[in-house]
Amino acid sequence: MPQIDEYWKNYIDNQWVDGGSDRLSVENPACGEHLAWQAMADRQDVAKAVSAAKACYESGVLSAMRPVERGRLIKQMGEWLLGHVDEIANILCLEQGKPLWEAKNEATNCARYYEYYGNQAETLEGKSIPLGQNYLDFTIYEPYGISAQIIPWNFPLEISARSISAGIATANACVVKTPELAPLSSQYFARAAEAVGLPAGTLNLICGHGHEAGAAMSEHPDVRQVVFTGSLATGIKIAQSAAQNIVPCVLELGGKSAAIVSSDADLDNFIKSLRAGIFTNSGQVCSAMSRAIVHEDIHDEVVERAAALAQALSVGPGIERTEPGLNMGAMISEAQRDRAENLCRRADSDGARIVTGGRRLNHQGSFMQPTILDNVDPSGEMGQTEVFGPVISFIKYQNEDQAVKIANATQYGLVGGIFTRDLDRAMNTARKIRAGQVFVNEWFAGGVETPFGGYGKSGYGREKGREALFNYVQTKNIAIRL
Ligand code: NAD
Repeated sequence: MPQIDEYWKNYIDNQWVDGGSDRLSVENPACGEHLAWQAMADRQDVAKAVSAAKACYESGVLSAMRPVERGRLIKQMGEWLLGHVDEIANILCLEQGKPLWEAKNEATNCARYYEYYGNQAETLEGKSIPLGQNYLDFTIYEPYGISAQIIPWNFPLEISARSISAGIATANACVVKTPELAPLSSQYFARAAEAVGLPAGTLNLICGHGHEAGAAMSEHPDVRQVVFTGSLATGIKIAQSAAQNIVPCVLELGGKSAAIVSSDADLDNFIKSLRAGIFTNSGQVCSAMSRAIVHEDIHDEVVERAAALAQALSVGPGIERTEPGLNMGAMISEAQRDRAENLCRRADSDGARIVTGGRRLNHQGSFMQPTILDNVDPSGEMGQTEVFGPVISFIKYQNEDQAVKIANATQYGLVGGIFTRDLDRAMNTARKIRAGQVFVNEWFAGGVETPFGGYGKSGYGREKGREALFNYVQTKNIAIRL
């Protein structure tokens, strides 16, 4: 096992500092072993971080740089991260439980955000508005100033990379709270900032408890914009706090996303998508394919093939799973695993059929069997609740209207998918699915370039893509009487 530092601090105003709250033991969910201690920030530490960000913003150091120079610094951070991918991926794998190859993908993708938004830094242009020859009128984009970013444990690197890089590209100073269960690998962002010489206070990275440091961030009167990814319950609290200060939020919340599988779908292709859609990161993905709504003519065959795939997955410690393939790591914690198992038990009593899986694995660590459920009641608990585990619910349909109705009948609307060889059918269905992203014939199609975010209770605002830049700026109109 690779050696990792025993004690990890917070990064405020370009200094590595302790936290006023407790020390947290970070554990490896694959075996329960202690990995390292994380210093936890309290409310005063949050106040220090916000004040460092405010001083940085008010000094004008970020806005004074030509955007291309700011962009270059951001890209250099990405390059520095790429040079440390193996180290970062090892730590992510150990603290979070995902297979090492998935952790490497995540570390590489997070560097890609720095490249993408570094390139975008110099592209935000205002417009000139005609008011007749006696006026010159134009708009400019200005940063909110201090961006607070609260991060979950499932993709701690990618989720923070996308908001840090877009936030700095638009000349905001950022205060970022890493998740309690997987805080260590994100500290490489602060190391990257240090390595490239970001001005003091531009990036402040702290770990702290949600109810303490997280709440202090979303309530702080000097924070001007909040980006949150996590659960619906926490999203509501954060939006309420931000509303007290009239501060905009971007909320990326949960999902119960459905793939509609038409009778003409390429089933080999669908099964490949299902493997990625529900078993990546042990299903702890907000945009997971958690429901498959399958045409009655092919339903039995698809369920059988999905079960064969689930049974073929080798489940065990992520650090031993170095190559892409039929494998899966641990869930983040025993509590998450137990929650997934209990939801499966109750689905069983509610009439669903557990085709395979449905239980924890009987060895040490937070492992859950890859699970295929059939005959799930779309309006019952399993049909409506985000499991956040390796559990997919199959539902049979007879006609397309019925399939779309079932797909849209949850409180969420993060993503959706349609598998068919018929382009008209794909387009008609894509328009009817109530979600922020629709995948046709490949789950997770898209990339850092494509806007991502929810309809309904999956949240509001968009991360990723050019569109996300506009979360971090406000428009100023300047009208000149000539
Ligand atoms: P969570 O809401 O418990 O925690 C997320 C973050 O919020 C953590 O950093 C936590 O410390 C912080 N937090 C907790 N309470 C807080 C409070 N009162 N004030 C401020 N911050 C607080 O969520 P989780 O358990 O870490 O993540 C799982 C959930 O997140 C799932 O429901 C999943 O769907 C959702 N999620 C959504 C996306 C997305 O992009 N839409 C991505 C990942 C996870």
